[in-house]
Amino acid sequence: MSEAVVIAEQFKELYGAEPEGVWAAPGRVNLIGEHTDYNDGFVLPFALPHTTVAAVSRRDDGVLRLHSADAEGGVVELRVDALAPESDKSWTAYPSGVVWALRDAGHAVTGADVHLTSTIPQGAGLSSSHALEVVITLALSDLYGLGLKGWQIARLCQRAENVYVGAPTGIMDQTASACCQAGHALFLDTRDLSQRQIPFDLAAEGMRLLVVDTQVKHAHSDGEYGKRRAGCEKGAALLGVDALRDVPYDGLDAALARLGDEEEVRRLVRHIVTENERVERVVSLLQTGDTRAIGPVLVEGHASLRDDFRISCPELDLVVDTALGAGAVGARMTGGGFGGSAIVLIEAADEGTVTKAVEEAFAAAGFTAPRVFAAVPAAGAHRLV
Ligand code: ADP
Ligand code: MG
Repeated sequence: MSEAVVIAEQFKELYGAEPEGVWAAPGRVNLIGEHTDYNDGFVLPFALPHTTVAAVSRRDDGVLRLHSADAEGGVVELRVDALAPESDKSWTAYPSGVVWALRDAGHAVTGADVHLTSTIPQGAGLSSSHALEVVITLALSDLYGLGLKGWQIARLCQRAENVYVGAPTGIMDQTASACCQAGHALFLDTRDLSQRQIPFDLAAEGMRLLVVDTQVKHAHSDGEYGKRRAGCEKGAALLGVDALRDVPYDGLDAALARLGDEEEVRRLVRHIVTENERVERVVSLLQTGDTRAIGPVLVEGHASLRDDFRISCPELDLVVDTALGAGAVGARMTGGGFGGSAIVLIEAADEGTVTKAVEEAFAAAGFTAPRVFAAVPAAGAHRLV
Protein backbone atom coordinates (compact mmCIF):
# COMPACT_ATOMS: atom_id res chain seq x y z
CA MET A 1 0.00 0.00 0.00
CA SER A 2 1.34 3.44 -0.83
CA GLU A 3 2.25 5.91 1.88
CA ALA A 4 -0.58 8.20 0.75
CA VAL A 5 -3.19 5.46 1.15
CA VAL A 6 -1.90 4.52 4.61
CA ILE A 7 -1.99 8.07 5.87
CA ALA A 8 -5.44 8.67 4.34
CA GLU A 9 -6.75 5.63 6.24
CA GLN A 10 -5.18 6.84 9.48
CA PHE A 11 -6.81 10.24 8.88
CA LYS A 12 -10.20 8.56 8.49
CA GLU A 13 -9.74 6.66 11.75
CA LEU A 14 -8.86 9.87 13.58
CA TYR A 15 -11.42 12.23 12.10
CA GLY A 16 -14.16 9.94 10.74
CA ALA A 17 -13.99 11.01 7.08
CA GLU A 18 -11.64 10.75 4.09
CA PRO A 19 -9.13 13.62 3.76
CA GLU A 20 -9.65 15.98 0.83
CA GLY A 21 -6.07 15.33 -0.26
CA VAL A 22 -2.57 14.15 0.68
CA TRP A 23 0.60 16.19 0.13
CA ALA A 24 4.36 15.59 0.58
CA ALA A 25 7.30 17.93 1.21
CA PRO A 26 10.94 16.78 1.39
CA GLY A 27 13.83 17.46 3.73
CA ARG A 28 16.99 18.83 2.17
CA VAL A 29 20.74 18.82 2.33
CA ASN A 30 22.86 21.73 1.22
CA LEU A 31 25.47 20.70 -1.33
CA ILE A 32 27.44 23.90 -0.71
CA GLY A 33 26.86 27.50 0.44
CA GLU A 34 26.90 27.43 4.24
CA HIS A 35 25.94 30.45 6.38
CA THR A 36 25.75 32.50 3.17
CA ASP A 37 21.95 32.83 3.37
CA TYR A 38 21.93 35.60 5.97
CA ASN A 39 24.68 37.39 4.03
CA ASP A 40 22.49 37.77 0.91
CA GLY A 41 24.65 35.09 -0.75
CA PHE A 42 24.29 31.87 -2.74
CA VAL A 43 23.19 28.39 -1.68
CA LEU A 44 22.85 25.09 -3.55
CA PRO A 45 20.55 22.65 -1.72
CA PHE A 46 18.80 19.60 -3.10
CA ALA A 47 15.74 17.71 -1.87
CA LEU A 48 15.98 14.36 -0.09
CA PRO A 49 13.78 11.38 -0.87
CA HIS A 50 12.69 11.63 2.78
CA THR A 51 9.39 13.48 3.12
CA THR A 52 6.77 14.73 5.52
CA VAL A 53 3.37 13.59 4.28
CA ALA A 54 0.14 15.27 5.40
CA ALA A 55 -3.50 14.34 4.88
CA VAL A 56 -5.61 17.49 5.17
CA SER A 57 -9.24 18.62 4.94
CA ARG A 58 -10.75 22.10 5.16
CA ARG A 59 -13.05 23.23 7.96
CA ASP A 60 -15.26 26.28 7.96
CA ASP A 61 -15.85 26.59 11.72
CA GLY A 62 -12.55 28.20 12.77
CA VAL A 63 -11.19 24.97 14.29
CA LEU A 64 -7.69 23.64 13.57
CA ARG A 65 -7.07 20.01 14.55
CA LEU A 66 -3.50 18.72 14.36
CA HIS A 67 -2.13 15.22 14.73
CA SER A 68 1.33 13.77 14.06
CA ALA A 69 2.09 10.06 14.09
CA ASP A 70 5.58 11.06 15.25
CA ALA A 71 4.59 13.17 18.28
CA GLU A 72 3.06 12.30 21.66
CA GLY A 73 -0.17 13.75 22.88
CA GLY A 74 -2.89 12.86 20.39
CA VAL A 75 -5.01 15.37 18.49
CA VAL A 76 -4.40 19.01 19.42
CA GLU A 77 -7.38 21.30 18.86
CA LEU A 78 -6.94 25.04 18.42
CA ARG A 79 -8.97 28.01 17.17
CA VAL A 80 -7.53 29.83 14.16
CA ASP A 81 -8.59 33.25 15.48
CA ALA A 82 -6.77 32.61 18.79
CA LEU A 83 -3.35 31.81 17.27
CA ALA A 84 -0.72 34.20 18.65
CA PRO A 85 3.02 34.46 17.88
CA GLU A 86 5.44 32.77 20.31
CA SER A 87 2.58 31.27 22.36
CA ASP A 88 3.35 27.62 21.52
CA LYS A 89 6.56 25.75 22.37
CA SER A 90 5.52 22.34 21.01
CA TRP A 91 5.63 20.83 17.51
CA THR A 92 2.19 22.29 16.74
CA ALA A 93 3.79 25.76 16.50
CA TYR A 94 5.03 24.89 12.98
CA PRO A 95 1.66 24.02 11.39
CA SER A 96 -0.19 26.63 13.49
CA GLY A 97 2.43 29.17 12.48
CA VAL A 98 1.69 28.78 8.80
CA VAL A 99 -2.06 29.04 9.40
CA TRP A 100 -1.37 32.23 11.35
CA ALA A 101 0.94 33.56 8.59
CA LEU A 102 -1.62 32.78 5.86
CA ARG A 103 -4.40 34.54 7.78
CA ASP A 104 -2.10 37.45 8.64
CA ALA A 105 -1.40 37.82 4.90
CA GLY A 106 -5.15 38.18 4.32
CA HIS A 107 -6.03 34.65 3.17
CA ALA A 108 -9.37 33.43 4.53
CA VAL A 109 -8.22 30.11 5.99
CA THR A 110 -11.11 29.02 8.23
CA GLY A 111 -9.72 25.82 9.75
CA ALA A 112 -8.39 22.38 8.90
CA ASP A 113 -8.02 18.80 10.03
CA VAL A 114 -4.44 17.58 9.68
CA HIS A 115 -2.76 14.22 10.15
CA LEU A 116 0.91 13.81 9.24
CA THR A 117 3.94 11.60 9.47
CA SER A 118 7.54 11.92 8.33
CA THR A 119 10.54 9.88 7.26
CA ILE A 120 12.90 12.84 7.80
CA PRO A 121 15.01 12.37 10.93
CA GLN A 122 14.19 15.20 13.35
CA GLY A 123 16.96 17.48 14.57
CA ALA A 124 19.56 16.05 12.17
CA GLY A 125 19.95 19.32 10.25
CA LEU A 126 17.90 17.88 7.38
CA SER A 127 15.07 20.39 7.84
CA SER A 128 12.19 18.32 9.16
CA SER A 129 10.75 21.52 10.63
CA HIS A 130 10.66 23.26 7.25
CA ALA A 131 9.20 20.26 5.45
CA LEU A 132 6.42 20.32 8.05
CA GLU A 133 5.71 24.01 7.38
CA VAL A 134 5.90 23.64 3.60
CA VAL A 135 3.62 20.60 3.37
CA ILE A 136 0.88 22.35 5.38
CA THR A 137 1.20 25.59 3.41
CA LEU A 138 0.97 23.78 0.07
CA ALA A 139 -2.03 21.74 1.24
CA LEU A 140 -3.88 24.85 2.43
CA SER A 141 -2.93 26.77 -0.72
CA ASP A 142 -4.46 24.00 -2.84
CA LEU A 143 -7.54 23.44 -0.66
CA TYR A 144 -8.35 27.13 -0.29
CA GLY A 145 -7.52 27.89 -3.94
CA LEU A 146 -4.76 30.37 -3.07
CA GLY A 147 -2.49 29.34 -5.97
CA LEU A 148 0.71 30.19 -4.06
CA LYS A 149 3.94 29.78 -6.01
CA GLY A 150 6.93 27.92 -4.52
CA TRP A 151 8.77 31.10 -3.55
CA GLN A 152 5.63 32.54 -1.95
CA ILE A 153 5.18 29.35 0.09
CA ALA A 154 8.82 29.67 1.20
CA ARG A 155 8.33 33.31 2.26
CA LEU A 156 5.20 32.46 4.23
CA CYS A 157 6.95 29.59 6.00
CA GLN A 158 9.90 31.82 6.83
CA ARG A 159 7.52 34.36 8.38
CA ALA A 160 5.77 31.59 10.33
CA GLU A 161 9.10 30.41 11.67
CA ASN A 162 10.63 33.82 12.39
CA VAL A 163 7.55 35.46 13.93
CA TYR A 164 5.26 32.67 15.18
CA VAL A 165 7.74 29.96 16.21
CA GLY A 166 10.32 32.62 17.10
CA ALA A 167 13.36 31.11 15.35
CA PRO A 168 15.59 33.43 13.27
CA THR A 169 16.07 31.25 10.18
CA GLY A 170 16.91 32.22 6.62
CA ILE A 171 15.00 31.37 3.43
CA MET A 172 17.03 28.47 2.01
CA ASP A 173 15.41 25.46 3.65
CA GLN A 174 11.81 26.37 2.92
CA THR A 175 12.69 27.25 -0.68
CA ALA A 176 14.49 23.94 -1.15
CA SER A 177 11.56 21.96 0.21
CA ALA A 178 9.06 23.92 -1.90
CA CYS A 179 10.96 24.35 -5.18
CA CYS A 180 13.53 21.57 -5.76
CA GLN A 181 13.22 19.23 -8.74
CA ALA A 182 14.29 15.58 -8.97
CA GLY A 183 17.79 15.08 -10.42
CA HIS A 184 18.69 18.71 -9.74
CA ALA A 185 20.22 20.96 -7.12
CA LEU A 186 18.63 24.38 -6.65
CA PHE A 187 20.84 27.44 -7.10
CA LEU A 188 19.26 30.18 -5.02
CA ASP A 189 20.37 33.77 -4.79
CA THR A 190 19.11 34.66 -1.32
CA ARG A 191 19.16 38.40 -2.12
CA ASP A 192 16.56 38.48 -4.90
CA LEU A 193 15.30 34.88 -4.51
CA SER A 194 16.06 34.16 -8.17
CA GLN A 195 16.63 30.45 -8.69
CA ARG A 196 17.99 28.02 -11.27
CA GLN A 197 17.67 24.24 -11.45
CA ILE A 198 21.18 22.76 -11.84
CA PRO A 199 21.48 19.18 -13.21
CA PHE A 200 22.79 16.89 -10.47
CA ASP A 201 22.03 13.39 -11.64
CA LEU A 202 24.37 11.28 -9.51
CA ALA A 203 22.98 7.90 -10.53
CA ALA A 204 23.52 8.58 -14.23
CA GLU A 205 27.21 9.18 -13.51
CA GLY A 206 27.75 6.14 -11.32
CA MET A 207 28.10 8.26 -8.20
CA ARG A 208 26.40 8.47 -4.83
CA LEU A 209 26.09 11.06 -2.17
CA LEU A 210 26.01 9.74 1.37
CA VAL A 211 24.45 11.69 4.21
CA VAL A 212 26.07 10.89 7.53
CA ASP A 213 23.92 11.99 10.46
CA THR A 214 26.31 12.18 13.41
CA GLN A 215 23.33 12.16 15.80
CA VAL A 216 25.01 14.87 17.88
CA LYS A 217 23.89 18.43 18.47
CA HIS A 218 26.24 20.35 20.71
CA ALA A 219 24.37 22.39 23.26
CA HIS A 220 25.93 25.79 22.51
CA SER A 221 24.97 25.76 18.81
CA ASP A 222 22.15 28.34 18.97
CA GLY A 223 24.29 30.95 20.71
CA GLU A 224 27.19 30.33 18.34
CA TYR A 225 24.86 30.86 15.35
CA GLY A 226 23.92 34.27 16.75
CA LYS A 227 27.58 35.18 17.26
CA ARG A 228 28.51 34.26 13.68
CA ARG A 229 25.58 36.23 12.36
CA ALA A 230 26.50 39.29 14.41
CA GLY A 231 30.15 38.97 13.34
CA CYS A 232 29.16 38.91 9.66
CA GLU A 233 27.00 42.01 10.17
CA LYS A 234 29.90 43.74 11.87
CA GLY A 235 32.15 42.83 8.92
CA ALA A 236 29.66 44.27 6.42
CA ALA A 237 29.37 47.47 8.48
CA LEU A 238 33.16 47.88 8.77
CA LEU A 239 33.50 47.37 5.01
CA GLY A 240 30.63 49.76 4.24
CA VAL A 241 28.50 47.23 2.30
CA ASP A 242 24.87 46.16 2.77
CA ALA A 243 25.86 42.50 3.14
CA LEU A 244 29.03 40.41 2.75
CA ARG A 245 27.61 39.25 -0.58
CA ASP A 246 28.75 42.64 -1.88
CA VAL A 247 32.44 41.95 -1.23
CA PRO A 248 33.75 40.61 -4.59
CA TYR A 249 35.99 37.54 -4.55
CA ASP A 250 38.76 39.37 -6.37
CA GLY A 251 38.51 42.17 -3.79
CA LEU A 252 38.90 39.83 -0.81
CA ASP A 253 42.54 40.63 -0.02
CA ALA A 254 41.85 44.34 -0.05
CA ALA A 255 38.80 43.85 2.18
CA LEU A 256 40.79 41.75 4.66
CA ALA A 257 43.51 44.40 4.74
CA ARG A 258 40.90 47.04 5.57
CA LEU A 259 39.71 44.96 8.54
CA GLY A 260 43.16 45.39 10.12
CA ASP A 261 43.43 43.62 13.47
CA GLU A 262 39.76 42.49 13.63
CA GLU A 263 40.98 38.88 13.51
CA GLU A 264 37.65 37.14 14.15
CA VAL A 265 35.73 39.30 11.69
CA ARG A 266 38.44 38.71 9.08
CA ARG A 267 37.96 34.94 9.38
CA LEU A 268 34.18 35.19 9.07
CA VAL A 269 34.41 37.50 6.06
CA ARG A 270 36.93 35.20 4.37
CA HIS A 271 34.60 32.22 4.77
CA ILE A 272 31.54 33.99 3.36
CA VAL A 273 33.34 35.52 0.37
CA THR A 274 35.16 32.30 -0.57
CA GLU A 275 32.03 30.21 0.06
CA ASN A 276 29.98 32.28 -2.43
CA GLU A 277 32.75 31.71 -4.97
CA ARG A 278 32.69 27.97 -4.25
CA VAL A 279 28.94 27.83 -4.88
CA GLU A 280 29.45 29.49 -8.26
CA ARG A 281 32.32 27.12 -9.06
CA VAL A 282 30.25 24.03 -8.19
CA VAL A 283 27.38 25.33 -10.33
CA SER A 284 29.60 25.80 -13.37
CA LEU A 285 31.20 22.36 -12.90
CA LEU A 286 27.79 20.69 -12.66
CA GLN A 287 26.59 22.55 -15.72
CA THR A 288 29.47 21.13 -17.73
CA GLY A 289 28.62 17.66 -16.37
CA ASP A 290 31.83 17.36 -14.35
CA THR A 291 30.37 16.04 -11.10
CA ARG A 292 33.61 14.44 -9.87
CA ALA A 293 35.40 17.77 -10.07
CA ILE A 294 33.18 19.25 -7.34
CA GLY A 295 34.79 16.91 -4.77
CA PRO A 296 37.80 19.10 -3.99
CA VAL A 297 35.55 22.18 -3.76
CA LEU A 298 33.47 20.45 -1.08
CA VAL A 299 36.68 19.67 0.82
CA GLU A 300 37.80 23.32 0.59
CA GLY A 301 34.39 24.31 1.91
CA HIS A 302 34.78 22.02 4.91
CA ALA A 303 38.22 23.43 5.73
CA SER A 304 36.79 26.94 5.58
CA LEU A 305 33.94 26.07 7.96
CA ARG A 306 36.34 24.30 10.32
CA ASP A 307 39.21 26.80 10.34
CA ASP A 308 37.68 30.18 9.46
CA PHE A 309 34.03 29.95 10.51
CA ARG A 310 34.87 27.50 13.32
CA ILE A 311 31.56 25.64 13.45
CA SER A 312 32.70 22.06 12.89
CA CYS A 313 33.11 19.52 15.69
CA PRO A 314 35.17 16.33 16.22
CA GLU A 315 32.37 14.08 14.89
CA LEU A 316 31.97 16.04 11.63
CA ASP A 317 35.75 16.27 11.10
CA LEU A 318 36.03 12.54 11.68
CA VAL A 319 33.42 11.79 8.99
CA VAL A 320 35.22 14.00 6.47
CA ASP A 321 38.76 12.78 7.22
CA THR A 322 37.77 9.12 7.34
CA ALA A 323 35.68 9.24 4.17
CA LEU A 324 38.44 10.98 2.21
CA GLY A 325 40.96 8.45 3.55
CA ALA A 326 38.69 5.62 2.35
CA GLY A 327 38.55 6.99 -1.19
CA ALA A 328 35.65 9.48 -1.20
CA VAL A 329 35.73 12.08 -4.00
CA GLY A 330 34.70 14.87 -1.63
CA ALA A 331 33.16 15.46 1.79
CA ARG A 332 32.08 18.30 4.05
CA MET A 333 29.88 19.14 6.99
CA THR A 334 26.47 20.48 5.94
CA GLY A 335 23.99 22.65 7.79
CA GLY A 336 24.45 25.00 10.72
CA GLY A 337 27.34 23.17 12.38
CA PHE A 338 28.31 21.78 15.83
CA GLY A 339 26.75 18.44 14.91
CA GLY A 340 24.03 17.38 12.50
CA SER A 341 25.09 15.82 9.23
CA ALA A 342 28.00 15.62 6.79
CA ILE A 343 27.78 14.76 3.10
CA VAL A 344 30.19 12.44 1.31
CA LEU A 345 30.49 12.20 -2.49
CA ILE A 346 31.66 8.78 -3.68
CA GLU A 347 31.87 6.45 -6.64
CA ALA A 348 28.85 4.14 -6.36
CA ALA A 349 31.14 1.10 -6.07
CA ASP A 350 32.77 2.55 -2.92
CA GLU A 351 29.57 2.84 -0.88
CA GLY A 352 30.24 -0.21 1.29
CA THR A 353 33.90 0.59 1.95
CA VAL A 354 33.34 4.23 2.85
CA THR A 355 30.30 3.53 5.06
CA LYS A 356 32.19 0.81 6.93
CA ALA A 357 35.25 3.02 7.41
CA VAL A 358 33.13 5.83 8.92
CA GLU A 359 31.22 3.45 11.20
CA GLU A 360 34.44 1.86 12.43
CA ALA A 361 36.10 5.21 13.04
CA PHE A 362 33.11 6.34 15.13
CA ALA A 363 33.19 3.13 17.15
CA ALA A 364 36.96 3.47 17.71
CA ALA A 365 36.52 7.09 18.87
CA GLY A 366 33.73 6.08 21.27
CA PHE A 367 31.14 8.24 19.45
CA THR A 368 27.46 7.29 19.03
CA ALA A 369 27.00 5.24 15.86
CA PRO A 370 26.13 7.54 12.91
CA ARG A 371 23.14 7.03 10.60
CA VAL A 372 24.36 6.72 7.01
CA PHE A 373 22.11 6.78 3.95
CA ALA A 374 22.47 7.48 0.23
CA ALA A 375 20.61 10.58 -1.01
CA VAL A 376 19.24 10.87 -4.53
CA PRO A 377 18.22 14.45 -5.48
CA ALA A 378 14.43 14.21 -5.22
CA ALA A 379 11.32 16.29 -6.00
CA GLY A 380 10.15 19.31 -4.05
CA ALA A 381 6.73 19.58 -2.40
CA HIS A 382 3.80 18.13 -4.36
CA ARG A 383 0.31 16.69 -4.07
CA LEU A 384 0.16 12.88 -3.84
CA VAL A 385 -3.60 12.32 -3.97
P1 ADP B 1 15.50 19.90 11.84
O1 ADP B 1 14.63 20.89 11.13
O2 ADP B 1 16.94 20.04 11.50
O3 ADP B 1 15.04 18.50 11.68
P2 ADP B 1 14.55 21.31 14.15
O4 ADP B 1 14.94 21.25 15.57
O5 ADP B 1 14.61 22.61 13.45
O6 ADP B 1 15.42 20.21 13.40
O7 ADP B 1 13.07 20.79 13.97
C1 ADP B 1 12.62 19.61 14.59
C2 ADP B 1 11.28 19.90 15.24
O8 ADP B 1 10.27 20.01 14.21
C3 ADP B 1 10.81 18.79 16.13
O9 ADP B 1 11.29 18.96 17.45
C4 ADP B 1 9.29 18.96 16.06
O10 ADP B 1 8.86 20.01 16.92
C5 ADP B 1 9.06 19.42 14.64
N1 ADP B 1 8.78 18.29 13.75
C6 ADP B 1 9.46 17.93 12.64
N2 ADP B 1 8.89 16.85 12.04
C7 ADP B 1 7.82 16.52 12.79
C8 ADP B 1 6.80 15.50 12.71
N3 ADP B 1 6.81 14.59 11.75
N4 ADP B 1 5.85 15.49 13.66
C9 ADP B 1 5.83 16.41 14.65
N5 ADP B 1 6.75 17.37 14.77
C10 ADP B 1 7.73 17.45 13.87
MG1 MG C 1 14.80 23.01 11.38
